[in-house]
Amino acid sequence: MQPEETPGARRVLPTVAILAVIFFLSAAGLRPPAPLPASAGATEFSADRAREVLRRLVGDGIPHPTGSAANGVVRGRVIDELTKLGYQPEVQSGFSCDDFGTCATVKNVLARLDGVEAGASVLLAAHYDSVPAGPGASDDGAGVAAVIEIARALKSMPAPRHSIIILIDDGEEAGLLGAHAFVTQSPWAKDVRAAVNLEARGTSGPSMMFETGSANYWAIKLYSEHAARPATSSIFYQVYKQLPNDTDFTVFKASGYQGVNFAYIGDVNHYHTPLDNFENADPRSLQHHGENALPMILALANSDLSPPVKEAVFFNLFERLVIFWPAGWSFPIAIVALVLLLFQVGWLIAKHRLLPSALLWGVVNWLAIFVTTGVLALIFQKILHVAGVMPTNWVAHPLPLQITFWCLAISVVTVVSLAFESRSGFWGLWAGVWIWWALFSVVVCWLTGGIGYVLLVPSCIAVVVGLPFTLRRSEPRNGVWLAAALPLFAAGILGFDHVILLYDGLGIRILAGIALLIALLLSPLAPLLASLREPKAFMRFALPGAAIAATVLAVFAAVVAPAYSAKAPEHVNLQYRQDGDSGKSQWVVYTDSGRLPEPIRVATNFRRIDKGSFPWDTLPAFLADAPHLEIAAPTFTILESSESGGKRQYRALLRSERGAPEAAVFFPPDSGIDQIRIQDEPIPHKTARVLRYFNGWDLYRCMTMPAKGIEIQFELPLGKPVEVYVLDLSYGLPLEGMFVLKSRPLTATAYQQGDVTILTRQLQLNP
Ligand SMILES: [Zn+2]
Repeated sequence: MQPEETPGARRVLPTVAILAVIFFLSAAGLRPPAPLPASAGATEFSADRAREVLRRLVGDGIPHPTGSAANGVVRGRVIDELTKLGYQPEVQSGFSCDDFGTCATVKNVLARLDGVEAGASVLLAAHYDSVPAGPGASDDGAGVAAVIEIARALKSMPAPRHSIIILIDDGEEAGLLGAHAFVTQSPWAKDVRAAVNLEARGTSGPSMMFETGSANYWAIKLYSEHAARPATSSIFYQVYKQLPNDTDFTVFKASGYQGVNFAYIGDVNHYHTPLDNFENADPRSLQHHGENALPMILALANSDLSPPVKEAVFFNLFERLVIFWPAGWSFPIAIVALVLLLFQVGWLIAKHRLLPSALLWGVVNWLAIFVTTGVLALIFQKILHVAGVMPTNWVAHPLPLQITFWCLAISVVTVVSLAFESRSGFWGLWAGVWIWWALFSVVVCWLTGGIGYVLLVPSCIAVVVGLPFTLRRSEPRNGVWLAAALPLFAAGILGFDHVILLYDGLGIRILAGIALLIALLLSPLAPLLASLREPKAFMRFALPGAAIAATVLAVFAAVVAPAYSAKAPEHVNLQYRQDGDSGKSQWVVYTDSGRLPEPIRVATNFRRIDKGSFPWDTLPAFLADAPHLEIAAPTFTILESSESGGKRQYRALLRSERGAPEAAVFFPPDSGIDQIRIQDEPIPHKTARVLRYFNGWDLYRCMTMPAKGIEIQFELPLGKPVEVYVLDLSYGLPLEGMFVLKSRPLTATAYQQGDVTILTRQLQLNP
């Protein structure tokens, strides 16, 4: 055995410093650009101009769900803005239903900019409706304001090759109903080949391109050539595919449109609450939306719009550059990298520079890092949960929690590697780390190249940079340092910003996963730590010591920090409910944390129920008796019924007698209901996934109830009585509920549907 090779203790501190710089550059790269002033050139996108549009659209802060009078006002403002710019906007009105059995009459605003060629066109889309709980200034007012500022810029440019259709649609929050009405009912829809959609789930952060049509490679190529500040990754695309979330782009994609979907996701606590207001809408996010969407819609409108369906692997570097390649390349490259690595390791052993036992310890080291990080992260998560630090998925001060789990991973990587270095040495740890990386890279690239690149790129760099130094013993320590440090830096550059965004996307539930990812990204630090055996290596104690101290301090800060604040409140919805049959009434409170805020608890006698005040309801709630009010309950009148084919067919009228905007009928699980039509619109069979949302109950509802009611046709099997629930729902509480409303603290807010008044009835159908 020859004397041991290491990069030297003097190189550890600079390596760690460079990693820290990469981290700060990654975090800084996620800051969206400064807004351009209103004096910017006519062909440029100016967030200051778009912000004035946004102020005129939603500056009054009034929630405007589909069908509400307030939504009609916002629609009028959208039409005014487009008219002022020289467009001739039209309103497309239609009744539309989604797969969940939710229907509404929606009113889309449409305008077009004619291209040089007739025929194929491209779509620029955002939605103007909001949820009932908040004014939707970012979701999706900012998208609408960006579309209008883009529409202005387009008017000052030469006509594009293909026409651009501007769609500012309605009913997105109710179930993508406006987009659905456009693709199924608008005569313009059949010419559309590609769409650019603008969205937000939060009020700040970079505008990320997180979804494309099926011709992914083509879309990314255009995006890489035209987006001013690219922020994208095939990882977001793959992760998003696994989530139940949808935007209008889901409908466009299902209609075969190509294109790209942009959204920002910072300050998710504001999402779908009154805090999604004009003041909180970050103008930098608006600038980023426009800087990417304007060149993209132009690029699409000037392209040939008949792309081949081909997937790509893609990611951006520091919002400057998009790297991409065909998805099919990743797996063979991963195989070649693994084979080359095994050859190098074999060579090191053959030349007696690496003992087989040292290699084995290196392999075990990497495994020990993962198992230890995983176990500790789960223990930390459990303890912090029990300590009440993480009552919901989104807390007011997530930074201490994020630091806890990052530093936990850093502590484990350093402590474990230092424990193993005397057995495995530099090459043992190097080979151990990169054998695992290369193996995983093969497996993940085989499953999905879109995610595998994070493993593939550093593995390839390790193999290529390592080659001269594994094959020939290098005297200068710089050689082995390069073989260890360069792939480590690559891992940081590719991974750090994604891990930061992963928290924004998934919240507290992903913290243990974040610890594992950081342990993965930093595991290539292990071979460098082998240098710290040298006498008087200060870093041997300083590095793990600092990481452990930071973990302890961060845990302390997380425990001390309040879970909610006025800027990041918890979600608490209030309801007044009256059973139209018995006349019994209740106050009902839903909270995300499952705990009742103290001021509400003392307002009246609330009792907790673990599950469901309705049979389809699976959430815990708090109930208290409420006064009976003289309000008419909804009706469900059988207009006609007949019998054929062993079933009974019904035509029924669902009506809100008090003029509530929303009414619904719930059929129990396994009622055998079939052939449903609402206002003559056929409703597709519900999938098991859809039925799970309401505990197996089958719900049909209209979010924009006309005064005369809506007609529902259906059939039921003969011989089995079916007990249905009928309800109607209006936004806000009756005046009698003012004391409950006032008891909700500033650290809590209405969310999504917000506070509502619900009247129910039960009735039996006897087919
Ligand atoms: Zn939205």
